[in-house]
Amino acid sequence: MTLLDVKALKKYFPLARGQLLHAVEDVSFAIKAGDGLGLVGESGSGKSTIGRLLTGLELADGGTISLDTSTDTAVQLVFQTAEEALNPAFTIERNIAVGLGKNRSSDPKRIAETARSVGLDPELLTRRPHQISGGQQARAGIARALVSEPELLVLDEPTAALDVSVQAAVLKLIDRLRRERSIALLFISHDLEVVRLMCDHVLVLYLGRVAEYGPVEQVMSAPAHPYTRALLSSAPGKSNRVRSAGEALSPIDPPGNACLFHNRCPSATETCRTSKPELITLRDGWQAACHHMERS
Ligand code: SF4
Repeated sequence: MTLLDVKALKKYFPLARGQLLHAVEDVSFAIKAGDGLGLVGESGSGKSTIGRLLTGLELADGGTISLDTSTDTAVQLVFQTAEEALNPAFTIERNIAVGLGKNRSSDPKRIAETARSVGLDPELLTRRPHQISGGQQARAGIARALVSEPELLVLDEPTAALDVSVQAAVLKLIDRLRRERSIALLFISHDLEVVRLMCDHVLVLYLGRVAEYGPVEQVMSAPAHPYTRALLSSAPGKSNRVRSAGEALSPIDPPGNACLFHNRCPSATETCRTSKPELITLRDGWQAACHHMERS
């Protein structure tokens, strides 16, 4: 069952002198119930903007976001940092209660159960965010998102602000909760290896456009798009870096008739500078946008 269907999503930010920053351009994807989709790309690729569009924190300039109405699908966002997720003036209990929404009264029993389910001692509920550790703040942020029992969690780099020692525990927690509760995930990350562990599908974004989209194992074992290969080879521990020299093009009024990766791409030709590559289906559910794709 498709929980979320996103079609041709667009988001532009107006700048001075009539310029437009093209943050998200014609992005389409779907998430099934219980599925995990990883959104990856460098900073400025539009991945966090997509998370904010899905959770209503930004309004789209085009395209559609359709949620399954038969289940009254609820979507919640797990923020990147405690500063975004938790109000410093509120107790942890009140912060978690925010996740219940404005129209629902607080429910101490449910909040304590949710805290326990994310490994947060209910005794900490009376404290303020600065009185607990970074790992506990991350768990409180997850509890705030989970307390309304959403079908879909949008996680925006949920471990980026945490110590390495805490990151693995929080990722394990998210994975366990997802399996226990059959929650679908949209997992935003710059780290393809983490996405491989957490997700079933991956969507690779470059300057707001889809470079590649498909089952995570297929994409990561035989990436079709040069940018996906560059991302994979630049991961920590990889020595055979794909050359992606050259300055990235600006997302401000980018050319509509070129591949936006052309000045960093080792396979670029004149065609890439004068013609925009469309998304091509390689296999069922696997697409990439490149004029000179490697097909396995
Ligand atoms: Fe590289 Fe050309 Fe493919 Fe763009 S279209 S990724 S420049 S080969």
